[in-house]
Amino acid sequence: MPHSLLLIGQKGLGKFDLARCFAASLLCESPLADGMACGKCLACNWFAQGNHPDFRLLQPEALSEDVEAEDGKKKPSQQITIDQVRSLDEFFNVGTHRGGLRIVLVNPTEAMNRNTANSILKTLEEPSPSTLFLMVSSEPMRLLPTIRSRCQVVPVPVPLVKVAARVLADEGVERAEHWLALAGGAPGLAVDMANSGQNAWLDLLVSRLGAGRAADPLGMATELEKALKDSKGRLLLKQVVEAFQKWMVDLNLARNGLPVRYFLQHQAKISGLADMIPPARLIQSYRAAINRRQEAEQPLNARLFLEGLFLEYRALFAN
Ligand SMILES: [Zn+2]
Repeated sequence: MPHSLLLIGQKGLGKFDLARCFAASLLCESPLADGMACGKCLACNWFAQGNHPDFRLLQPEALSEDVEAEDGKKKPSQQITIDQVRSLDEFFNVGTHRGGLRIVLVNPTEAMNRNTANSILKTLEEPSPSTLFLMVSSEPMRLLPTIRSRCQVVPVPVPLVKVAARVLADEGVERAEHWLALAGGAPGLAVDMANSGQNAWLDLLVSRLGAGRAADPLGMATELEKALKDSKGRLLLKQVVEAFQKWMVDLNLARNGLPVRYFLQHQAKISGLADMIPPARLIQSYRAAINRRQEAEQPLNARLFLEGLFLEYRALFAN
């Protein structure tokens, strides 16, 4: 076993659950014949309760279930902090409690700034014995190359549609095909989207983008900014930008006479819009949208950001 594995793949595939299951099976004291954790031994109990002494989960405070953003309180961090990484020193300096592996699960790995990443890199370069790092990332291209190169990369593929559809059926989600398309085939993301009951913003975005030349960029920015505010942190600007990017991908596909990938029920509308845009302009704009995805992580001003995005969009349809 290498001392660090990097699980990569798009969001919503279940990489984190996979990493947790794998960690549980490695720490379990009597794994089942198929390698899965037994779920009954002392180690499994500790693991389930989140207090196995040889396991550490490193994730942004905002991802912890017991942290709720409350009005007036400081927002929980979206980043893994350097203090969290430093607190591992103590973990590494004592022997493992159960004489087996010591496992650190990092989720998501891209939620570390350069300093934090460099700090964890020291440990990756000189691993303490019997330590395993499980690093999860939906955006591996954003990781420091030095981090990527220290890990064995494990690509997690998009499942077959019929397999993914079963996951949605188990969760009681109807119109599986529709949600899977929107989620790029990732079942976890599709379930989240279907069950969130908070897709009004997406319907709004799609209907406004569908207006093409008649779109009102400043009005759209105002509406989406309001949706962001009203969501109290449940909707992030980057999700809006991701949806916008998907719309741009579909426009590009339609411009090339191909079926759309994400917005299945809007095929006809998207094809009609695509025919109005010069191809070169469309490709250029798609590239710009990719860059914007990164800026959306920490925009200075959401309203201005959205206005810029939508002004560019409407310019696609200019004569
Ligand atoms: Zn067990």
